[in-house]
Amino acid sequence: MSIAHHLIKSISTHLRLTEDVNALFSSVSIDTRSLQEGALYVPISGERFDGHQFIEKAIEEGAQASIWQKDIPVPASLPAEFQLYFVEDTLLALQKLAKLYRKEVNPKVIGVTGSNGKTTVKDMLASILSYAGTTYKTQGNYNNHIGLPLTILGMPADCQFLILEMGMSGFGEIHLLSTLSEPDAAIITNIGESHMEQLGSREGIAKAKAEIRDGLVAGGMLYIDGDEPLLQMLKGKDVCTVGFDRHNHNQVTNVLVDSTGFQFKLHSVGDLTLPMLGKHNVKNAALAASLAKGLGVSFSHIQAGLEQVKVSGMRLERLVGDHGELIINDAYNASPTSMKASVDALKDLDGFTHYIAVLGDMYELGANEKALHEQIADNIETPITHLVTVGEKGKWVYEATKKQQKSNGITLHHAPTVEEAANLIKPLLNDQTVILLKASRGLKLETILNYLKESG
Ligand code: ATP
Ligand code: MG
Repeated sequence: MSIAHHLIKSISTHLRLTEDVNALFSSVSIDTRSLQEGALYVPISGERFDGHQFIEKAIEEGAQASIWQKDIPVPASLPAEFQLYFVEDTLLALQKLAKLYRKEVNPKVIGVTGSNGKTTVKDMLASILSYAGTTYKTQGNYNNHIGLPLTILGMPADCQFLILEMGMSGFGEIHLLSTLSEPDAAIITNIGESHMEQLGSREGIAKAKAEIRDGLVAGGMLYIDGDEPLLQMLKGKDVCTVGFDRHNHNQVTNVLVDSTGFQFKLHSVGDLTLPMLGKHNVKNAALAASLAKGLGVSFSHIQAGLEQVKVSGMRLERLVGDHGELIINDAYNASPTSMKASVDALKDLDGFTHYIAVLGDMYELGANEKALHEQIADNIETPITHLVTVGEKGKWVYEATKKQQKSNGITLHHAPTVEEAANLIKPLLNDQTVILLKASRGLKLETILNYLKESG
């Protein structure tokens, strides 16, 4: 990291005490709890706290300097030699600084948005691109108007590929992230139903995601899920469609699956192997591979990157339980689209006696939430042998499946709590059993793993 004094100087209206004009900062931090020695502190005003209140703590932790909102009085207790850069608005300053640093380092910037699969595609891209050069990516879920500039400011000075996850919950947010980071290439993974409350409809969600095109550099390319009708409005020389349908620029064909993952052919790229479950991940991989190809990455690097990909935890993560059962932990989060995709991934597997889908509440779905849970019932079919729903909203899935189910022999249970769900499946644990875990983050469905262990 080398956020140099000259970058900060260009965003601040005036300075207090700037003797060392060549100052370099070890990092940029908005949080005194994780601030590193030598950092530039950027106090942000949040809903509950104002970071300016913590300036003494920042200095104690080793901050070398701080940005400061100029209408806020500077505490008399600050050491006279401590350097402050005065600005109108510290959040805008953070974003502006990130924009300048992006230009200074000038890596190939890649923006990834979409309702589901952003982190997965980001991880796939990082795996591929690190074969081609120094790569830095969004850590965890730092994908909003604060996390994204911090990510940019965290890239090393020799970064060649910067992969930015871009999240949103309303209109205008992706526009801001895209124009701030000016991607050389971008991806829209899919359109789901998350944030329906704020955006009103799936059309609204598609429009909001499409804002990622706003900041593309001249000659930049946008890669989209070409099977999604709502993205058909995106046309032009800068758009490449990727998917299973015939009309796509980069069509995926010859898909083969087994319990270790997929093999498929991607038009204009080649034959690829993906050690992950879930057909949606084939599309995620095809998007990542298409983008890498567009940036000039060699086929052998694309192939090796996908073969070695390590995705972040709880995304169709394969675990083996104490009794030899295969557990597919997809409990990171859930929406109707991603829940259907996970249930399909469970059904893709061959050779088990018991197929248990443990499905819990999906949050933030707005007025339509009951119907969106009920629709999951359409996907509950053989080879699934057991459905265990969890939570108040999860119960809608149970009720709808019960209503639909004629005599197809699927055992249905509802458990109000995760612990009760564990008790229901304990008698079925052996190496002939596969269990899928899927629910929204709030339910913490992965805690079922502890209850299952306790079965002894
Ligand atoms: P968040 O908005 O929480 O950051 P994300 O977009 O980063 O989510 P991931 O963490 O990559 O998404 O994946 C979350 C879940 O979405 C996965 O567990 C998987 O079930 C599902 N998923 C991933 N990709 C797709 C896709 N292309 N289509 C449908 N579902 C998907
Ligand atoms: Mg994510």
